[in-house]
Amino acid sequence: MSHFNTCAVCDTAIGHQFLMCPSHWHLVPRQMKSEVYRCWIDLRAVAHLTLGPERQRAQAEYDEMRAAAINAVNERLQAREAYLRQHQAPPERTLPQRTPTTPRKGGHRADHE
Ligand SMILES: [Zn+2]
Repeated sequence: MSHFNTCAVCDTAIGHQFLMCPSHWHLVPRQMKSEVYRCWIDLRAVAHLTLGPERQRAQAEYDEMRAAAINAVNERLQAREAYLRQHQAPPERTLPQRTPTTPRKGGHRADHE
């Protein structure tokens, strides 16, 4: 088991005690954030118990809040995307251009300037 988690929305590595990376967590409505947090605290409070109804309930509650928060973020992201598309309709999109990136190796190579 690693000590890292990835964001529930993107692939950013985050600490295992977090649900999302900061930029996505930021999109969770304030009230929902505190709900998720409360459920998480509840879950932690019963984490020492062997799996029983109390722990199962806390887990189920947390899972539900977690899913709701992820949903809220996805909805916001979609709404933002739709808004952007509407307000600055890009000219017909072709395949994204592949811009070759030249990784700088070493760094001491003095190319002529
Ligand atoms: Zn993220």
